[in-house]
Amino acid sequence: MKYQIQGHSHRHAVEEILLHLLPEFTIMEGVDDGGDFCSSILSEQGGRLTARAELRLSEKRLEGHRFGTFCEGEDLLARKRFENELIKLSIYDAVISELPVLPVWGALTGVRPAKLARGLIKRGMSSETAEQYLCEHFYVSPERAELTMAAAEAAGKAEGKIRSNSVSLYVGIPFCPTRCSYCSFISAAVEKNAALIEPYLDVLCWETRETGMLMRKKGMTVDSLYIGGGTPTTLTSKQLDRLLTELERAFDLSRLFDYTVEAGRPDTITAEKLAVLRVHGVTRVSVNPQSMNDEVLRLAGRPHTAKSVLESYDLARNAGFSVINMDVIAGLEGDTPERFANTMDTLVGLGAENITVHTLAVKRGAAWQDLRANLARRETVRHMLSYAQRVLTQGDYGAYYLYRQKFSAGGFENVGWCRPGTENFYNISMMEELQTIVSLGAGGISKRVNRMTGKIERFTNPKYPAEYLQAQERILQSRHRLLQE
Ligand code: SF4
Repeated sequence: MKYQIQGHSHRHAVEEILLHLLPEFTIMEGVDDGGDFCSSILSEQGGRLTARAELRLSEKRLEGHRFGTFCEGEDLLARKRFENELIKLSIYDAVISELPVLPVWGALTGVRPAKLARGLIKRGMSSETAEQYLCEHFYVSPERAELTMAAAEAAGKAEGKIRSNSVSLYVGIPFCPTRCSYCSFISAAVEKNAALIEPYLDVLCWETRETGMLMRKKGMTVDSLYIGGGTPTTLTSKQLDRLLTELERAFDLSRLFDYTVEAGRPDTITAEKLAVLRVHGVTRVSVNPQSMNDEVLRLAGRPHTAKSVLESYDLARNAGFSVINMDVIAGLEGDTPERFANTMDTLVGLGAENITVHTLAVKRGAAWQDLRANLARRETVRHMLSYAQRVLTQGDYGAYYLYRQKFSAGGFENVGWCRPGTENFYNISMMEELQTIVSLGAGGISKRVNRMTGKIERFTNPKYPAEYLQAQERILQSRHRLLQE
C-alpha cells in the first residue's frame, strides 16, 4: 500500500499504524497509482487540529477524522505526541470496520505500553483511570490493559530502587551451538564460527576493562548485570570463568539486585558450567525450552528434547540457583493449543520462578492472499496466550514486564511472568528505559537515559563479531561519549 502525507511530517506514525492494522501489506510512501492507498492530512484552524485519513482498500473508500485542541503550552515534544496520536487514531477509525478481528492492542503501536501507562500516571491519572484510558482512548483489550498496568506497577517499584549514579550492564555473547530456524537475533552458529570465539573474548575482556576503568573514574556503580546472546553457555566453562573473572575485576558487583546468565539452550548446559556461574555469584539462569513438544522442537531446529530440558532444569536447581527463568514461544511451527497447553502446564508444574512467554516474530510483507491463513494463525496464538495468562495467574505468577515486537504473530506481545518477589530488575530497567544501560560486546546497544528529562541517546557497538574485532577505537570513543556527564 502506498501512502502520502499532507500538512505534517509524521511519516513514521502513518507507517506504524498502517503496518499494525494491515500487517500483510508492504507500506511505502508514493503517489496514488490507483491501487490500495492512504492519504493522511493534518490541518489547524483557530488552535483546533484536524487529522483526516482517506483510504482506498481493495477498491473500497474509507475515511476517518479526529479533532483536538492542543493545550500543553510550548512543549514541542508534547505537541508532536499529540499530533501523532490524532493521525494514528484517524487512520484507525478509517480502517477498523474493515478488519475481520479487532487488534488486541487497539490503536496502540509502541513497543513499551507500560511506559505509556506510567506517563499517564505521572501526569496525574490514577492507575484505574489510566487502565480505563488505555481501553477507551486507544481501544486496548481489557486483558492487555490489565497486563500493562501490572508491568507499570512493577516498573514503578523498580524505579524506586535505582541508586544514584548507577547503571545496569549487559554483556552479549553472540554465539550458539547451531541456529534455530526461527532465530531473528545476531547469533553465529559455532560450527562455522568456532575460531572467532577466543579473539571475541579477548576484545570483550578488553572492552570490560576499559569500561570498568571509565566508570570507576566517574564513581558509577552497577545495579544489575545480564549476560545474554546468543547463548552464553556456548562458551566452555574455562571461557566462562575467564569472562566472569574479568567482569568482577572491572566492576563492583557486590550490590547487584540480580545477576543473570542466559544458559538458554539445554544442549549447552553442564553441571561444570553451572558451578562456574555459581562461584561467580550469578543469581539467575535461563533454561529455555521454547516448547516441551519434541516435534515442535525438531521443526524449530533445536537439537534437544523436552526430556533434556527437564534434565538441565534439575542441574540448575541442584547447582543452587534460586531463580530459574524459562522462555516459551507461542506460534511456533507445528505447535497446537493442546501442545502449547502441555508446555505451559509442565513449566508451571516445575515451579520455575520466572516464565517468559514470547510470541513468534513473523516476517512482514506476506502476500494479501495469505490473510486467511494468517488470521487462523493469529487466532491460534491468541488462544495460546490466553491459556498461558490463565494458568500462570492460577499458579501465583504475575506479569512484571512486557514489550511488543514489530511483526510478532498477530501483533501480540512478550510478557515476563514471575512468582512474587522474583522480578528481574534488569529486564524491567532495560525494557522501561529506567536508567542507563551499558552494553558490552558485538551488537550491544547502550542507552544513556537522563532520568530528569527522560531524554534517551543510543550508542551502538558493531553488529557482527567479525566487525567487532576490528573496531576497538570506535568502541572506545563511543564508550567515552556514553559515559560523559
Ligand atoms: S538459541 Fe536463541 S539466539 Fe541462539 S539460534 Fe536459537 S533463537 Fe537464535
